[in-house]
Amino acid sequence: MSSECIFCRIVAGTISAKRVYEDDLCLCFADLHPQAPTHLLIIPREHIASQAHAQEEHAALLGHLMAKAAQIARGSGLDHGYRVVINTGAEGGQTVDHLHLHLLGGRHMGWPPG
Ligand code: AMP
Ligand code: ZN
Repeated sequence: MSSECIFCRIVAGTISAKRVYEDDLCLCFADLHPQAPTHLLIIPREHIASQAHAQEEHAALLGHLMAKAAQIARGSGLDHGYRVVINTGAEGGQTVDHLHLHLLGGRHMGWPPG
């Protein structure tokens, strides 16, 4: 837990968020600035700064996040597909330094990404 980190503060409940799912390992909430009709963030409760900081010891937790993304997508009616994104580091477009999955859906996604 880092008191400097916005997402740790959301985990702690000191910053509010529109929570759509939570369990003992992770939290899912609506992105404040949605980039698609459905735009959710899935984060571990544990502070991991980015995908670049992931270690073997995080494998089960990261697998859990991916499995929950699929479950939440099914529950959100994203039957025609969606995109899971992990922006990583400055060139990857990461702006919040607490690892998070973006779950984006409800419109066609272009490729390549910007
Ligand atoms: P990234 O740029 O990949 O690090 O993603 C960070 C995301 O967090 C952006 O899409 C922001 O809109 C979103 N965000 C930042 N602050 C909040 C907040 N307080 N509640 C919900 N989403 C947030
Ligand atoms: Zn954090």
